[in-house]
Amino acid sequence: SSAFLDQYETLDVIGNGSFGIIRKVRRKSDGLVFARKELNFERMNDRDRKQIVAEVNILKDLAHDHIVRYHDRHVDREAGILYILMEYCGGGDLSTVIKQATRTNRPIPEDKIWGYFLQILLALNYCHQPNGHARGGSGGGSGASAVENAGTATRAQILHRDLKPDNVFLDTADKVKLGDFGLSRALTQTTFASTYVGTPYYMSPELMQEKAYDTKSDIWSLGCVIYELCALRPPFHEAKTHQELSNCIRNGRIPPLPRGYSQTLAGVIKSMLNLNPAMRPSAAQLLQHERLALTLKVIE
Ligand code: ADP
Ligand code: MG
Repeated sequence: SSAFLDQYETLDVIGNGSFGIIRKVRRKSDGLVFARKELNFERMNDRDRKQIVAEVNILKDLAHDHIVRYHDRHVDREAGILYILMEYCGGGDLSTVIKQATRTNRPIPEDKIWGYFLQILLALNYCHQPNGHARGGSGGGSGASAVENAGTATRAQILHRDLKPDNVFLDTADKVKLGDFGLSRALTQTTFASTYVGTPYYMSPELMQEKAYDTKSDIWSLGCVIYELCALRPPFHEAKTHQELSNCIRNGRIPPLPRGYSQTLAGVIKSMLNLNPAMRPSAAQLLQHERLALTLKVIE
């Protein structure tokens, strides 16, 4: 045993990650509950090891109300396990919300969807525009002036790269916590991530054509997530093969939303699912949308 592990009492297993389990733990000193990802790095290849180190380094620097908060890490070299301690999200994730709505045959109320939408956008904007001040600012410009940035450490731009309902966690108060940055990459202004290993359903057309991934690809995936919250299935769910999915996406015909959802919401989703990444709104631009600005006033 180690001094680090002795600090915590282990509770239930809450998830099975791609590299190991996720456990609920309680800190003995103050009774606080955390989620602990246990990653067995002995069985990993070099590439996966590098990815894990990158994920932890990304998480460590992300401090936002709507992003799963990183707390600590510990390497047990003998056992070959890396422990990552993070904020515990006790409300499940958006995939459980969608499943529940399907099972009970109760659509998710539109107000609730705008609320989730806004919170994911706030998190994405923080990642996409690390040095900007989108809130209250105008347009999608880079925001901060040299003077404002002086003496402030600047963060790198982060892409999530695997935005889907299962990676949008909820705390017990139903507050959105964007998580699983396992596939994200810290990007400098000149480098672009060009490989993608995410879930095909949420994959943008530019990725299907193996072009570079950028912030607008996250916007596409978010469009798919918001669509799914309304329709309870992803927009291109009829596709049975990768080729069919690729065709559906390139045709760009999105089945209409079920009755009961507004034209306003349908219009915003449609703008995010524009085939041309440059035509999709940025997170900062979406935050300027009247309906979302109104939702922000309500949750604040
Ligand atoms: P993977 O890369 O395997 O998808 P995730 O980080 O998404 O790993 O974790 C897998 C699952 O474990 C999640 O879908 C979620 O159910 C659960 N989980 C992960 N992190 C937390 C957390 N901080 N709080 C609560 N549950 C979590
Ligand atoms: Mg996941």
